[in-house]
Amino acid sequence: MKVLISADIEGIAGVFHPEQTRAGNSEYEAARRWMTLEANAAIEGAFAGGATQVWVNDSHGGFRNLLPDLLDARAQVVLGKPRTLGMMAGLEYGAALVFMIGYHAMSQTRGILAHTINSFAFARVSLNGAEVGEAGVYGALAEEYGARVALLSGDDVFAEETALRFPGARFVVTKSATGHASGVTQSPANARAAIGSAAREVVQQHLANGYARESTRAEAKPVECELRVQTSALADLFCQWPTLTRVDAVTLRFGAASAEHVVRMLNCLSAMSFMLR
Ligand SMILES: [Zn+2]
Repeated sequence: MKVLISADIEGIAGVFHPEQTRAGNSEYEAARRWMTLEANAAIEGAFAGGATQVWVNDSHGGFRNLLPDLLDARAQVVLGKPRTLGMMAGLEYGAALVFMIGYHAMSQTRGILAHTINSFAFARVSLNGAEVGEAGVYGALAEEYGARVALLSGDDVFAEETALRFPGARFVVTKSATGHASGVTQSPANARAAIGSAAREVVQQHLANGYARESTRAEAKPVECELRVQTSALADLFCQWPTLTRVDAVTLRFGAASAEHVVRMLNCLSAMSFMLR
């Protein structure tokens, strides 16, 4: 069984402040190490549960935060951007299960460092009328590729908002939010232990239930995406792209042929937004 782990940083135990998520300071250097070790706990747990292949995808910022020399040498590491499938890159080579580690709540919620893909650009993202965060956007992509989202970790707000979306999945709560940049965390060691045993059990259960097949691509379905952006200037910019329709000053809409096309368009818009920074 092949497992693809997507690792972000905002949901890692001990991470509360934007400074810890940005390169160029000592707090970030500590946080990226905790991120690497939480990802490693998931890798080790997956192998202990019987996985035959584990890939780990660096899913934060410039997609180069994980420290490969601290990761289990059996894992393949997906680094760098741009890449077509963003936080799910690696899925195109097949995976049976997806783990989302260090994830965070969607934009404009009370989760720690809550945002959706790009906090400068996007205030709200809806797919077919349902508001989603990164787990919702990339979960749709995983499902389109025939992979099941089986394990997620992050704060309590993330777990609560995502539980309904992935009813059979296992959640590890690494910390509780009391604000955008405050809360109560498990120790990194305890978070790793919980992630490691959850990863092992999730893989064991799927193998015991006969869920060992490699993914097969499901038929893609069209998706309607509505975006509320952070400023009308961003809406002016994004509407230069003929595919997007302006609904009001800060709301845009586009139709996409698949979840993959939604991901690719959102990542292109995110890249465009750097023009206005
Ligand atoms: Zn991130």
